[in-house]
Amino acid sequence: MIGRATAASVSEIREQFDASALGVELHDRIRRLFPICRSITGNGVRQTLRLLASEIDLVTREIPSGTRVFDWTVPKEWNIADAFVKDRSGRRVVDFASSNLHVVNYSIPVHRTVSLGELQEHLFSIPERPDWIPYKTSYYHANWGFCLSHRERERLREPEYEVCIESSLEDGHLTLGECYLPGQQADEVLFSCHVCHPSLCNDNLSGVSVAVSLARLLGQVQRRYSYRFLFVPGTIGAITWLALNADATRHIRYGLVLACLGDRGTMTYKRSRHGRAGIDAVAEHVLSGAGAPHEIQDFTPYGYDERQYCSPGFNLPVGVLSRTPWGRFPEYHTSADNLDFVTPDALADSLARCLDMVNVIEGNRTYTNGNPCCEPQLGRRGLYGSMGGHGGARQMEEALLWVLNFSDGTHSLLEIADRSRLPFDVVRRAAETLRRHGLLDG
Ligand code: ZN
Repeated sequence: MIGRATAASVSEIREQFDASALGVELHDRIRRLFPICRSITGNGVRQTLRLLASEIDLVTREIPSGTRVFDWTVPKEWNIADAFVKDRSGRRVVDFASSNLHVVNYSIPVHRTVSLGELQEHLFSIPERPDWIPYKTSYYHANWGFCLSHRERERLREPEYEVCIESSLEDGHLTLGECYLPGQQADEVLFSCHVCHPSLCNDNLSGVSVAVSLARLLGQVQRRYSYRFLFVPGTIGAITWLALNADATRHIRYGLVLACLGDRGTMTYKRSRHGRAGIDAVAEHVLSGAGAPHEIQDFTPYGYDERQYCSPGFNLPVGVLSRTPWGRFPEYHTSADNLDFVTPDALADSLARCLDMVNVIEGNRTYTNGNPCCEPQLGRRGLYGSMGGHGGARQMEEALLWVLNFSDGTHSLLEIADRSRLPFDVVRRAAETLRRHGLLDG
């Protein structure tokens, strides 16, 4: 579908990028994953990872409940078969079968008749958005509850209701998924996304789907860096992975948390805690070079799993790539974050930006001009038009001069691209040309 058999490098993949075909691939994957009731543990995560494993080489790991991971403990495993609220006539007025958002995620089992007054204490709705069902969790506090649209809630008039949550909270496992693509170097690029939300598209499944397509694309080409894709439950999954892999994190040179990548909003990059790490330079170069409006945010210690990767004991070079950030779209954590809220175009655009970043990471090097005293004579080598170039040729001539001038062993090609305001790929091709002519070392 994108000339997979012939692409030899990330830049070739990027040139052959078929946005409409990949947009369909990304959105179809979300459609397949959408119905599954995920949580931070349990069969929903396993079923999700099994589906991903049909597309990429995914290794899953099961970590027993009770395992200590830094200051946390892997919780009991949660699973759910059914849940409802029934009225006197036996009609289900709230039904888990129609939306898994109806049950507060991690609810303890319950089956009894309760007064409407008591039931109200366990109900969640959004009066300002009366048709949307909110998404609520109660991971670390034993409780039960139902989420419903405010309109449904207002129709509850009977004195008593039968409530049933057929869930289990038992010693079991936390499941982690990981796809590792080895490169020429052990140095790694980390992509991480959370897999713990039930039927929500932008927050959760968009990041998962972009990560899978990216892993598929990178799996086909020669790689300088190694790539690690983590599919882990939010917070506890990232903490558990870090606790089990603390030593291996020394290989991570660049990292991105992928989340909220399918909405129609513009791109947002949240810097690593370091703020001037390689990933920050790469992301800012790519987003500004794409020509579309975008936003750069400084690091804050709340958000997604960057909170763990950028905790001071690790301080990894990990930023966050989103379109509209979490909490800034009204559909966030509601039933309106659905299959219509994420679009094939936006998903493909997000994937393209990820590939652009990988392309810079793979191609960024630092050279030394072997002929630093005055410019080498480029015209004699056929590299400089005698009549003065224009258009693309002119841009390449400029790039040759920029690369020659700043390749003093301290400026990377990315820094030269930033300083010259030339596209990274033009600068990289200029450097390759100069190397072929023996004018650059390194
Ligand atoms: Zn969320």
